[in-house]
Amino acid sequence: MTQRKFNFSPGPCTLPLEVLEETQRELVDYQQSGMSMVEMSHRGKTFGDLHDEAIGLMRELLEIPDEFSVMFIQGGATLQFAMTAMNLLNDSSKAGFVNSGHWATLAINDGSIYGDTYVAWDGADEKFTRMPGNDEIKLQPNTRYLHVTSNETIGGVQFRDLPDVGVPLVVDMSSDYCSKKVPWDRIDLTYGGVQKNLGPSGMAVVVIRTSVVEAIDKKLPTYLDYRVHLNGNSLFNTPPIFSIYVTGKTLKWIKANGGVSAMEAAAVKKTDVVYDAIEKSKGFYHSPVDPASRSRMNVVFRLPNEGLESKFLADAAKEGMVNLGGHRSVGGIRASIYNAMPGAGVETLVQFMAHFQSTHS
Ligand code: PMP
Repeated sequence: MTQRKFNFSPGPCTLPLEVLEETQRELVDYQQSGMSMVEMSHRGKTFGDLHDEAIGLMRELLEIPDEFSVMFIQGGATLQFAMTAMNLLNDSSKAGFVNSGHWATLAINDGSIYGDTYVAWDGADEKFTRMPGNDEIKLQPNTRYLHVTSNETIGGVQFRDLPDVGVPLVVDMSSDYCSKKVPWDRIDLTYGGVQKNLGPSGMAVVVIRTSVVEAIDKKLPTYLDYRVHLNGNSLFNTPPIFSIYVTGKTLKWIKANGGVSAMEAAAVKKTDVVYDAIEKSKGFYHSPVDPASRSRMNVVFRLPNEGLESKFLADAAKEGMVNLGGHRSVGGIRASIYNAMPGAGVETLVQFMAHFQSTHS
């Protein structure tokens, strides 16, 4: 096989090699059934068991309390921007939003189509370089929930601790799901596309307080109604079988590698190595993000000019480190260091950073 790259992509992104290899071994003939998993009916026992196992592992690994339900819903995190507001708001309630950057802005845009929404804290003036403290979030009366993006994948800005402001949180966890513990007592709903820490793209994992679903009392299109997904155990219609199948394997891999607390410890260690390299560079590399909000998943940094950034990306690619470019809207460098990125990838990156600096400054 071609030498595997260190793939720093923000998602879809690197998955554990063991997961890919096991999927490959099983792909044509799933456990001597004479057919592939992806050829089987979603109503059959084989898939049903895999589906329930993936949901069970999600519960176990994230220590999700019994009062919550776990659902797999297609449409990615993007559909949840609208679906959360559509299902949770009514004529007399509103939702506050922390505007922390690109993804929060999209959530606000779609949420505001389906309910009364407002920005409770806005990071725009500071160019989205930090998350707010509890006392900076200004809630209005009748706020049903506060929507936050736990990790801004493009800005590299993350809540080290989610807000605790007296109203339930709705949290977009797309880019840090299963990389840290979740304070469920503050939460009504979490959602996230799986294509970062959990598996191949194709669905969002939604974790919702069951009483919140039971309280929905309006007519909604079938697929956009959480009650339909809850009553149908996420199998109302044909689910994304491949995504669920491989997500289950990744969750098993997380469990076998020490669970979420081990992922969290590894994320701190791996990203500290890169942030330390940035600090030690004496300004050659520069992080725009406030140290207290620096992401444990997406490390963003700049070089002295765009010409050097292009050279950095091209040279890094020659050394087997790919997809290090920042999002097209912001440029710069972004190293996405999800659960499956091995420590060796990070070591290779910081050695390269030191070498690049010594030859270009
Ligand atoms: N929220 C965040 C924080 C994201 O990083 C992304 C995707 N990068 C999305 C939402 C959108 O996810 P999807 O593509 O699954 O709709």
